[in-house]
Amino acid sequence: MSQAKKDAYALQAASIIKKLEKRNMEGFYFDTAKDAVEYILSTIPEGSSVTWGGSETLAESGMLDALKNGNFEVWDRDLAKTLEEKKAFYQKSVGADYFFMSTNAITLEGELVNIDGNGNRVACLIHGPEHVIILAGMNKVVPDIKSAVPRIQNCASPANAARLHTNTPCEKTGCCGDCHAPGCMCCEIVVTRHSRHNDRIKVFLIGEELGF
Ligand code: SF4
Repeated sequence: MSQAKKDAYALQAASIIKKLEKRNMEGFYFDTAKDAVEYILSTIPEGSSVTWGGSETLAESGMLDALKNGNFEVWDRDLAKTLEEKKAFYQKSVGADYFFMSTNAITLEGELVNIDGNGNRVACLIHGPEHVIILAGMNKVVPDIKSAVPRIQNCASPANAARLHTNTPCEKTGCCGDCHAPGCMCCEIVVTRHSRHNDRIKVFLIGEELGF
């Protein structure tokens, strides 16, 4: 990535971090995912229960591997295989000390915009886990809420559909068909505009392209 783009990302991130503060969410910026992951790890007490929502960003950044290899009580969603195990896992995950996720988009005003199929990921963002740690590449920044949803449904969703084989219009055409299919990933569209609880949501912006 060119230095000019890095400089622009750093400036944009500084502005978003100020807007997050107004929303009672704490923002950080790191040039690289490696630096962000190292810092985040240094802030989590050993033995904390940690879990996460589905996210390419968490995998690409190295955050997932770091959690799995760290000295934490790891609640790994991928170990739940049956429907019953998944239900039990989702119920347990709301009681985690730390919940990790990315955001589908973040606006220049600091609003988080997320789209979910099952709803378990946005449920944990809204309420439950003591701390929510969000990692987001600067490719997730959008001008405003109005532009966030089309960006998610026409960029992120087709890629997620291909990954998860949802059999939705976006898997077949690469574009949103505003579907109501059984595998629809857009059941919930959630805007987080403020955190009522102090010190709960932390957003780590990263000067790399991560996830979709
Ligand atoms: S509404 Fe349906 S077609 Fe559109 S992005 Fe969501 S899952 Fe894909």
